[in-house]
Amino acid sequence: MKKEENITNEFFTDWKYAPAPESTDHIKLKKQYDLFINGKFVKPNSKKYFATINPATEEKLAEVAEANEKDVDLAVTSAKNAYDKVWKKMPVKERSKYIFRIARLMQERAREFAVIESMNGGKSIRESRDADIPLAANHFFYYAGWADKLDYAFPNKKPQSLGVAAQIIPWNFPLLMAAWKIAPALATGNTVVLKPAETTPLTALKLAELIRDSGLPDGVVNIITGFGKTGAAMVNHPKVNKVAFTGSTDVGKLIQKSIAGTNKKVTLELGGKAANIIFDDAPIDQAVEGIVNGIFFNQGHVCCAGSRLFVQENVADIVISKLKQRLETLIVGDPLDKNTDIGAINSKEQLNKINEYIKIGVDEGAEMYQSKCAIPSKGFFCRPTLFLHTSQSHRIVQEEIFGPVLAIQTFRTIEEVIEKANNIPYGLSAGVWTDKGSKIFNLTSKLRAGVVWANTYNKFDPASPFGGYKESGFGREGGLHGLMPYLSF
Ligand code: ADP
Repeated sequence: MKKEENITNEFFTDWKYAPAPESTDHIKLKKQYDLFINGKFVKPNSKKYFATINPATEEKLAEVAEANEKDVDLAVTSAKNAYDKVWKKMPVKERSKYIFRIARLMQERAREFAVIESMNGGKSIRESRDADIPLAANHFFYYAGWADKLDYAFPNKKPQSLGVAAQIIPWNFPLLMAAWKIAPALATGNTVVLKPAETTPLTALKLAELIRDSGLPDGVVNIITGFGKTGAAMVNHPKVNKVAFTGSTDVGKLIQKSIAGTNKKVTLELGGKAANIIFDDAPIDQAVEGIVNGIFFNQGHVCCAGSRLFVQENVADIVISKLKQRLETLIVGDPLDKNTDIGAINSKEQLNKINEYIKIGVDEGAEMYQSKCAIPSKGFFCRPTLFLHTSQSHRIVQEEIFGPVLAIQTFRTIEEVIEKANNIPYGLSAGVWTDKGSKIFNLTSKLRAGVVWANTYNKFDPASPFGGYKESGFGREGGLHGLMPYLSF
């Protein structure tokens, strides 16, 4: 038995993969991107542009426009005109066809989108190719299906569209978040001004090109780029009827304050600090793989990342030993390499923030275990990191780190783990690993989290709603629920 374990260890740690980088020959990026307003790319009134880089190489990829208040006004006015004159009046079947067309075009260009997503965001090509882009296209397909069936979705309720939706998204899933926002807004008859995050604008701008090619009437979707100031101008614009935001809890609170007292509807999808709970009757190997998938495969850049691990005490040693072993096999490096498990951290600021938290964890007295893997000398990379012997009061347990850092605690009873899992300001998601269906149902009803995965983690489907409790925000995206925030009844 001992011998076999050694063989497995050697096999995993010593076996090297040959590089398998995805080609970038087919990628055509412009040197400079303007704002997509009223169906055309137009120069910004601000006359300002800022660089967007590849976080794995620190090389500049392109320059993008910085929209000021005047630009925001042009975009919102164009969305308002398109709403009043075209989109609101269009027969629902016709609207549906446009959304289908966007979905199909996205599928056709999936490879291009995946490569650009990895170049600009730093995420592994495996993730962008297998998750982000197919899910984004599926979201458009799914909501295209609802666009002409709203009366069936909400019988006897006469659903009405709202008008112009201002949509602000973060950098962790740039195209997918754009799809989560745009698809239900269009399906419910609203028009859109969308702003991607400042570090990851390129797939949203490629989406603008795709939307232009799809023949969607001018002004129905406008895509503008900029920083927080641009986002604030969108939120505060008087012609905006609905604000949809995904990002940090701090900015979510600012947005809520600034729209208080207006008629604007709002949905906020904010931070998270998910509990992944492993019981002693769980399939341990699958659970270990689920833990790795939940926090490491995506650089920890997921609001619903399983960043707190709760292991039942009597299996803690075996789970932690298998986890350490698996950690040593993870490949950190070139996001475009198909073997890479953990790509680049999205920005220098984010890497600094993660490193600061790692230092806090050590200073708080938790035991750190980091993989011994090599990391590239250029670019922003972080080794997968475990913290053992953490407790509820540790900042690394309470605060969102947004990186490949896992805080581990043990527990004895169900009551204890429920209390610990819920004892946190966030409530976006959770995971439960057990052989017993009854335990799953018991926990899902008591965990204060919008999504609870059972014996799996990070699984998404357009038909399934997603959203938070407590400081993780409110409102749901996805599924039938995802239509409601864009409608009045
Ligand atoms: P993260 O920590 O994920 O970068 P942020 O909340 O800072 O999250 O950013 C998410 C999105 O919100 C980005 O598109 C950013 O430009 C935008 N943003 C930042 N500040 C504001 C603000 N005050 N009002 C509106 N949008 C903002």
